[in-house]
Amino acid sequence: MELYNLSIYEARTAIDKDEISPVELTEAVFKRIEDVEQTVKAYVTLTKEHALKQAKEAESLAKAGVKKPLLGIPIAIKDNMCTEGIKTTCSSKILKNFIPPYESTVTQKLKEQGYILIGKTNLDEFAMGSSTENSAFGHTRNPWDISRIPGGSSGGSAAAVSAGECIAALGSDTGGSIRQPAALCGVVGLKPTYGRVSRYGLVAFASSLDQIGPITKNVRDSAMLLNIISGHDMYDSTSAPIAVPDFTSVLGRDIKKMKIGVPKEYFIEGMDKEVEASVRIAIRKIESLGAIPVEISLPHTGHAVAVYYILATSEASSNLARYDGVKYGFRAEGKDLLDMYMKTRAGGFGAEVKRRIILGTYALSSGYYEAYYKKAQQVRTLIKQDFEKAFETVDVIVTPTSPTPAFKAGEKTEDPLQMYLSDIFTISVNLAGVPAISIPCGFTSNNLPIGLQIIGKHFDEESIFKAAYAYEQATDWHKRKPKL
Ligand code: GLN
Repeated sequence: MELYNLSIYEARTAIDKDEISPVELTEAVFKRIEDVEQTVKAYVTLTKEHALKQAKEAESLAKAGVKKPLLGIPIAIKDNMCTEGIKTTCSSKILKNFIPPYESTVTQKLKEQGYILIGKTNLDEFAMGSSTENSAFGHTRNPWDISRIPGGSSGGSAAAVSAGECIAALGSDTGGSIRQPAALCGVVGLKPTYGRVSRYGLVAFASSLDQIGPITKNVRDSAMLLNIISGHDMYDSTSAPIAVPDFTSVLGRDIKKMKIGVPKEYFIEGMDKEVEASVRIAIRKIESLGAIPVEISLPHTGHAVAVYYILATSEASSNLARYDGVKYGFRAEGKDLLDMYMKTRAGGFGAEVKRRIILGTYALSSGYYEAYYKKAQQVRTLIKQDFEKAFETVDVIVTPTSPTPAFKAGEKTEDPLQMYLSDIFTISVNLAGVPAISIPCGFTSNNLPIGLQIIGKHFDEESIFKAAYAYEQATDWHKRKPKL
C-alpha cells in the first residue's frame, strides 16, 4: 500500500516496528500533495518546512525508544483552529494574515502526543456553509468527482483525508460540518458530545453548538484521536469535567441485542433514492450482526433547520462583532471610526457571513427577540427532549448523514435555502448536544460515497464506536479510494 493511504493505527504500528520512519511518511504525504493538491485544493496553508523539521525530531525520539500515539503522524487541521505562529484564516479575507499568538487546546494536545502538522485546511468562511464554496481562497473539490463539492464546512479536511493528503484531520461541526463532508468524501467523521472537547482556540461561530472532532480513514482512528483531544479544560468553561474513557476499548465488542433506533422522520420525500436504499441495506446489515432495529419518532425534527438558522446566526452575529479592524485582521481606512468599522466589515466578510450577521442581528433585536430567538430556544428544548425520550428505549439511532450525495459545484450557491437543507439530518444532533458519527455505507451508481449517521446519548460515544466498528468490520466501503 502507498504510505499516504495508511491509517493512524497502521502508520503507528509500522513506525513502532521500524518498518517506516516519520520522515519517510511525511515525505510520502507531501509527494502526494504535490501530485494531487492542484486538483483537490484542500489546503489554505501548507507547513512543509515545519513538518519536515518535526518529522526529523520525531524520528530521533522514535529511535530513542520514545512511544507516543501520534509520534510522527502527519495530520491536517481545519483553518479555524489557532496554531501559534502559523496563519489561521477561517478562509476569510478578514483574517487573511492573522497569525495567532497562542495554540488551541486540541492542537496543543496533538503536539504533546508528537503529531506532525501538515497544513491548515480550507473551509466555508467561518465554517458557514455546506460545500466549501464560501471560502475566500477558492473552492475545494471532491476527490471522487472533481466537478462536485466535498461538502462543508470542513470540506478541506475531509477531502485531504480522502485523497491521502494527510493521515487524519480535525474538523469542527456546528450543524454537520464534520459529518456531512465526511459522508460526501467517503471517510469517517465524528462530532463528539457538546463539552467533550475543549473549544479553546477554535474561532467561534455559534458557541452553543460548535464542537471539534476527528475526520479519519476508519473508526479505530476516530476513537484514537478522540482519546487524545477530549477532556476538561480550564480555558473552556463549557468543557465538561467528566472522565474520558479509552474509546478504543469497545472496538470489537459484539452488538448483539443492541437496540438501534430508526427515526421515521429521517426517511423523507425528496431524499436521494440511492442514499435511502444504501442506508436501509446498512440497517439490515447491522441487524444481521445481532442488533435489534426499532422504529422510533423524533417528532420535532421538521423544525430543526429553522431553529438552527435562528440560533446559529444569532450567536454568529454576536461572535463576529469582534472583527472591527481595530485589534487584528483586515482593516480598511475610513474618514472616522464608524466609517472604518463599516468599510472593514463590508470589505472583509463574504456574502454568506454578511447574510448571517444580518439575520442574527435581526433575530436578536428588540421587538423580534421574543418571536424568533426565544421561540427558537424553546423549540430547541423540545428537540433535545425528543432524543432523551428516544434514548429511553434505544442505545443508538441510525439515519442517513446527508439527503443527497455530493452535488455539483455551483449547483446551490445561488439558493441559500437549498444549501441550508443539506444539513437537515445533522443539525438536530448539534441542537441536542449529543454525539454522532458518519461512516461510509455505500456508493451511488456514479461512484459517489454515501454516509450512515450513528447518533448516541450524551457522553456515550462508546456505543457509537461499538456499533460503527462492528458495521465497518463487516463491510469494506471504507477501503475504497478515489482515483485521482
Ligand atoms: N452547513 C451548516 C451551516 O452552514 C453547518 C456548518 C457547520 O457545521 N459549521 O451553518
